[in-house]
Amino acid sequence: MHERLKKIKCYLLDMDGTLYLDGSVIPGAREAVARMRRAARVIFLTNNSSKGRRDYAEKLQKMGFDAKEEEVLTSGSVTVDYLKALYPDKRIFLLGNGLLTREFTDCGIRLDDQNPELVVVGFDTELTYDRLTKACGHIRRGVPYIATHPDINCPTASGFKPDVGSFIALIKTSTGFAPAAVIGKPHMPMGDAIERMTGLEHSQIAMVGDRLSTDMLFALNNGYLPVLVLSGEATREDLEFSGYHVPVVLSSIAEIL
Ligand SMILES: [Mg+2]
Repeated sequence: MHERLKKIKCYLLDMDGTLYLDGSVIPGAREAVARMRRAARVIFLTNNSSKGRRDYAEKLQKMGFDAKEEEVLTSGSVTVDYLKALYPDKRIFLLGNGLLTREFTDCGIRLDDQNPELVVVGFDTELTYDRLTKACGHIRRGVPYIATHPDINCPTASGFKPDVGSFIALIKTSTGFAPAAVIGKPHMPMGDAIERMTGLEHSQIAMVGDRLSTDMLFALNNGYLPVLVLSGEATREDLEFSGYHVPVVLSSIAEIL
């Protein structure tokens, strides 16, 4: 076992490409999560804002993982915390699907399509041209906007789907405005949420994930131990090309501990 893994008190676990791939559990992942639990706490972490914390906990439970809702952080749930801290009681125009909208309203966020003070761009998997036009209209007239995460594409069984990073590019092209903040990995608000949740020193936290531009950069930005698994997006060649210093590289999460 890598020396630095012995000091870890919290494992941040990316989900897609790390615990499962296209809905199938990566062999040995359930047992690996159980071993990590005996040594530390675990937090399931995703940039995907098309489902809520409860939806992800249920998905993990159905796949046989021991996971509780309060152990799940999504870019959507962190966005809710961010809004409550920095934009309390502000009127929000949300570009998001039904599940994200439910999470926002359940958490007491004030939604206002007509006269918002802030636009939030989430992974709206039910996006319509009308909603997109309205969001761009508010932004064009000077309403600031934030985005839940920067991922350009979302990998699925049938190939890539355009994700929030692509929406940001479209909005920037149409309105000229970039987001005032991006919430998910590798950006600061997600790190702040981990800080509030754990209170641990950063060297006691490991980030296990399959993406260099989000998971590994997030670990490096925050001083967490980066653990790259080669079961998803990144290859060993990608890692070499990136120049990132990742001390623990595993063919899959099954190899951990
Ligand atoms: Mg992933």
